[in-house]
Amino acid sequence: MIIHSTDLCDLVEMSFFGGQNVLLSQGGGGNTSVKNSAGTYLWIKASGFRLSEVTHLSGWLGVSINKLNRGLKDSFLDKLSLREAHEISTKRVQEASSETSLRPSLETTFHAWLPDRLVLHTHSVWANCFSCMKGGNKLLSDTLQIAWIEYVTPGFLLGKAVAESYANQQNNSFLLENHGLITTGASPSEAICLHETLRPIAERIFGNFPDHTSITPPNREITTWANEFKHACLTMGHLVTARPPLRDYLRSKTTICPTQGALVPDDVVYGIHAVKIIPGGTGGKDWFKIHGPSPGMEVFWLTDLGFILVGPTEQAVNTMEENLLANVMLHDLIQRVGNVCHLPQEEVDYLVGMESERYRQMVALYKTT
Ligand SMILES: [Zn+2]
Repeated sequence: MIIHSTDLCDLVEMSFFGGQNVLLSQGGGGNTSVKNSAGTYLWIKASGFRLSEVTHLSGWLGVSINKLNRGLKDSFLDKLSLREAHEISTKRVQEASSETSLRPSLETTFHAWLPDRLVLHTHSVWANCFSCMKGGNKLLSDTLQIAWIEYVTPGFLLGKAVAESYANQQNNSFLLENHGLITTGASPSEAICLHETLRPIAERIFGNFPDHTSITPPNREITTWANEFKHACLTMGHLVTARPPLRDYLRSKTTICPTQGALVPDDVVYGIHAVKIIPGGTGGKDWFKIHGPSPGMEVFWLTDLGFILVGPTEQAVNTMEENLLANVMLHDLIQRVGNVCHLPQEEVDYLVGMESERYRQMVALYKTT
């Protein structure tokens, strides 16, 4: 199936909007899609791409909605536990695409099952001020009519929840608890305007958003700590990137760690659910001797010094920093007005299991190529 040039332009325009601000999408988070006029086929941002990387030439792929529905609207799935259904459906979403080199997002289900031509989904900090706050639903519903979707694991279950909500209310704005925002429309401007509706409301209720753009060199003490840890890892054959955040906002002087846990699923991917608190006076080399190298991605909080991000590559650490920025800013903003609502521990454990499975698959893949 060939994408029509108007559809492609609209997909790129919406993706540009979602990808131009780190407060809307962090790393490869968020996605966009457009359907053909018959509503039988959709083109969606590919998994692993940033929204800002969706261009006329790359970053998207086609998915047959009929094929997807044949795989997912199957009574066999209804007989399974929710978690088993989620895992089988993930494979079936991938099979609904004819592409072999790109994978459709796990979130393809709600894109396919919402009838509007265009769907825009971001992990907007403006939206998540409400979606990650205890009582956020009530606070927002006093001001704005929007469908509130209680938290479910992204993928098949979320697709079902959004489709059911649409069937009941025919809404075109959905706030996903502990996750983000979906808006839909017939044109990019419709979907974007609905997305923008939340921004002034959040700024009025939560106050001025702190400046997160200023970047200055970190102090020598924390840089030395990161270098010591990195070199200790290297001497044992583990090549890692370890550095303090680049943004001043994430290095502002606080005596207690400014994050208290995972707010959204991506926080679990980037180690923000389990920040290691390192007591003052423990050097990077000392910490390595006690705890060894970091498995995957880890965030450290050094008492009185600040964060250190540890990951396999500079690119991974950049993405970690963007997600940490959203998490810390949400804690900051929400606590001005009320209480933060963290992801339930049971869900964190489930997502950790999914991540380690993905990691095992990646290791297996590298071993065979
Ligand atoms: Zn999402």
